[in-house]
Amino acid sequence: MTIPIHDPLQPPGTLKRLPLRKAAALFIVAVCLCLSGLLYLQLEQTRRQDLATAQIASSNLTRAMAQQAEDTFLAADLVLTSLVDWVENDGYGAAQRPRLQKTFARRVQQLQQLDGMFLFDRDGQWVITSYPDLPRGNSVADREYFKFHLQNASTVAHIGRAIRSRENGEWIIPISKRINDRDGHFQGVLMAGIKMAYFDRFFKSFSLDDNGIMFLGLKDGTLLARRPFDDSLIGSSLAQGRIYSKLLPEAPAGTATIRSVVDGVVRLYGYRQLGMYPLVVAAASSRDTILKGWYERAFQASVIVALVILGVGLFGWVFIHQVRQGERIEKNLRKAQRALEEIATHDSLTGLANRRLFERSLEIEFARGARQSSPVGLIMLDIDFFKRYNDAYGHVAGDHCLIQVAQVLKNCCQRKADLAVRYGGEEFAVLLPDTDINGTLSIAGQIRRSVMDKCITHSGSPTGYLTVSLGCYSFIPSGNDSLEEFIQHADAALYQAKNAGRNRAAVLSLESSVAELMRSDR
Ligand code: GH3
Ligand code: MG
Ligand code: MG
Repeated sequence: MTIPIHDPLQPPGTLKRLPLRKAAALFIVAVCLCLSGLLYLQLEQTRRQDLATAQIASSNLTRAMAQQAEDTFLAADLVLTSLVDWVENDGYGAAQRPRLQKTFARRVQQLQQLDGMFLFDRDGQWVITSYPDLPRGNSVADREYFKFHLQNASTVAHIGRAIRSRENGEWIIPISKRINDRDGHFQGVLMAGIKMAYFDRFFKSFSLDDNGIMFLGLKDGTLLARRPFDDSLIGSSLAQGRIYSKLLPEAPAGTATIRSVVDGVVRLYGYRQLGMYPLVVAAASSRDTILKGWYERAFQASVIVALVILGVGLFGWVFIHQVRQGERIEKNLRKAQRALEEIATHDSLTGLANRRLFERSLEIEFARGARQSSPVGLIMLDIDFFKRYNDAYGHVAGDHCLIQVAQVLKNCCQRKADLAVRYGGEEFAVLLPDTDINGTLSIAGQIRRSVMDKCITHSGSPTGYLTVSLGCYSFIPSGNDSLEEFIQHADAALYQAKNAGRNRAAVLSLESSVAELMRSDR
């Protein structure tokens, strides 16, 4: 029979305790995840902001470049247009040449972007230049701009690919116009050379990182000017690059992030196609430079968050460790408490309940019996001639014998509510809740036979074996009954069993005020 044991470590009526360690670990993980998530969101947002700001700056820069390029070519274009009109009207005969030469020289002086101005006849031979002396020999009939005008009747200005001036070896970008006679026949080309150095100076006036790039190109992708300047790249084609092949066909201006196939650097490009001339400008800053400040802030914020997470983790570890230790101590306390409870309520030799537990159980069963009007049975058992057994075999053997009898009692107490008790010395009791006198006597008989079946040799007993005598009693508690009386009745029955010759179970009949002996069935 199990008696509810009061546990001071678990207050009655409280809910099942939360798994504190698990909750703490989950909480700490959640805090760390939240911190990391917030950091990520914050960093992602500032990164986007920095890139958006750089996009605006890049867009403004290309707008300024486009404006400058347009102004530069427009000024040269206007000069060329007025001079072409002049040449077409007055021709460039010997009489006209001194004045034309002076005008060329003055215009070149006035426009700082101009390197020189040159008039070629229909064979590409030099006629007049802005320089005092004509270069000898070389025709320009092989130049791209000359061929263009020879083959195209268009009188609009043509911007050609960058070339080295045959006059002074400078890099120049030619802007040229066709000269016609009155019938529209090709009479030559007027060309102004725009110094590439002029664009270089302009490009250098902007602050750009070491990996930054600025360039001016023709619409067909031919590179005209570039920062940083690279001799070998001038005149090369950018037509296969993403800006020319994908972006410009979609929109004449915009920004894009592109990884360079040359140096592997990722750059933010701004690009713009000019409205008046077939020219394209672009400027790019490396993404690493744009995000330099962001990288620093991200590093600082990450270190701080990592330290906080480390702190929270450490605190959590210590906390969980403490909780675990507390749980271990509590477990040990419970164990000790159970051991103490066991010691206080059980007999150390046989492991059966002791008198203290017996009396506590009696009170409980009396109350239950009274509530439910159910009988409570009791068997009192005493080993026959046990003194002699001790004398014959010694106390150690006697103790062993007590253990065997206790084992019989345990086996016969089948129901959970039954309680086998070592009442004292070699006397035992069996409390049988919800058992009437017949049931009590039946179990008593079972116990008696089981002890005999053990065949424990006992030379001092007339049977030659160890036997027991049992007194049975059962009644329905009324709610105001005496424990002592209950035990006395069973004891009296036991006394009768002894008197009747031992090795038997007896019932005390109260109806006939005279004790009535009943032999147990064998
Ligand atoms: P009866 O048939 O009338 O009961 O005869 P008995 O000799 O058993 O008489 P009684 O019941 O008075 O015997 C008590 C004896 O039980 C005394 C003591 O030697 C023995 N005894 C009591 N407690 C213990 C114990 O814990 N261990 C051992 N070995 N013997 C005990
Ligand atoms: Mg006795
Ligand atoms: Mg005895």
